[in-house]
Amino acid sequence: MAQLSPLLKQATPVVVDRGEGVYLYDVDGRRHLDFTAGIGVTSTGHCHPRVVRAAQEQIGKLIHGQYTTVMHQPLLELTERLGDVLPPGLDSLFFANSGSEAVEAALRLTRQATGRPNIVVFQGGFHGRTVAAASLTTSGTRFSAGFSPLMSGVHVAPFPYAFHYGWDERTATEFALKELDYLFATMTAPNETAAFFVEPMLGEGGYVPANREFLAGLRERADEHGILLVLDEIQTGFGRTGRFWGHEHFDVRPDIVLIAKGLASGFPLSGIAASKDLMAKAWPGSQGGTYGGNAVACAAAAATLDVIQEEGLVENAAARGRQLLEGARAVAGKTAAIGDVRGLGLLVGSEFTTPDGKPDNPTAQAAQKAAAERGLLLLTCGAYMNVVRMIPPLVVSAEQVDEALDIWAEVVASVTS
Ligand code: PMP
Repeated sequence: MAQLSPLLKQATPVVVDRGEGVYLYDVDGRRHLDFTAGIGVTSTGHCHPRVVRAAQEQIGKLIHGQYTTVMHQPLLELTERLGDVLPPGLDSLFFANSGSEAVEAALRLTRQATGRPNIVVFQGGFHGRTVAAASLTTSGTRFSAGFSPLMSGVHVAPFPYAFHYGWDERTATEFALKELDYLFATMTAPNETAAFFVEPMLGEGGYVPANREFLAGLRERADEHGILLVLDEIQTGFGRTGRFWGHEHFDVRPDIVLIAKGLASGFPLSGIAASKDLMAKAWPGSQGGTYGGNAVACAAAAATLDVIQEEGLVENAAARGRQLLEGARAVAGKTAAIGDVRGLGLLVGSEFTTPDGKPDNPTAQAAQKAAAERGLLLLTCGAYMNVVRMIPPLVVSAEQVDEALDIWAEVVASVTS
């Protein structure tokens, strides 16, 4: 008899049978409030009827039409639909299956387009687990442990993680940009740098929003030196932050945007968006794979866009996000164990710290476990896995947010008493 690989280490003992909206039902019929959304994927809720119908209809017509051989209608339709929501000037799309593949595609494109070898990433960023994507990832050593050497040509500059430094946002931002200039002066000349890869909000790295000045500083340096600004919106796109794109909070113009997760309600689909001129600099044949832009996934993504727009999910994410952030801050106000609560829309993180201000992993892990025992599924993140994060589907109601916050208050009291 075969057994699951020990690599598949689960955060909770739950074995899921089915999902509906914000709930997962396990094989024993127990209901769980899912504030993980499959790591920010099932934004329309589990098995939204419109997404299910679109996928079922498509599956009876065409499952797979390989896009370097034949084009198919769902991919063309999705491309057209995405044209309405993509940032200005990014009018060309390329599809893959996972976030990491989108990162890889963008990495290749930026090197091909600029002819430059180096990439600058920001401390705490997470960009995936393939070798190249892991080479751009600095949110924890666990993501690249034991399989070095990683890809060369990657340089790391600080991210303005103010709480971590114990500074205010402005000081952290000035420091990050100064260090970036120092890196350019000493490690990689700006004219050898192809791209900046940055998340509008650190996801796996601890739920730390970027800010306007920091991203403006990157844009300025990108413009001055012909560096491409790649925004990894894999976790922050499609309404998750209460705006359609995470970067809309900061008013910055990207050259490339990476998409996945919330794009297709759980079907494997990712992509990169850039201008046609930039995209034309990729070498045909150097990009793509057998399954990219799968027909069923594309049909599900088009239905996902319908749901996001027609059910007002971006607005709901903003309103419910405020409620969740305020509620999580109120819970943190009653204990010294949570040093900071941060968020944008429905990405809310509570950072556990020890009395002397150090990252407190054991209490965060205990809180996650205690929440799961009470029927609330949560995740942790951060370099020390000491940030408990809440990422419910964007269809979450005010009552469900209150229910989760009540459980959270109980959990925090139980693990800190
Ligand atoms: N970039 C970001 C910002 C992510 O959050 C993730 C996944 N958590 C990835 C890239 C990698 O995506 P995948 O796991 O689908 O490869």
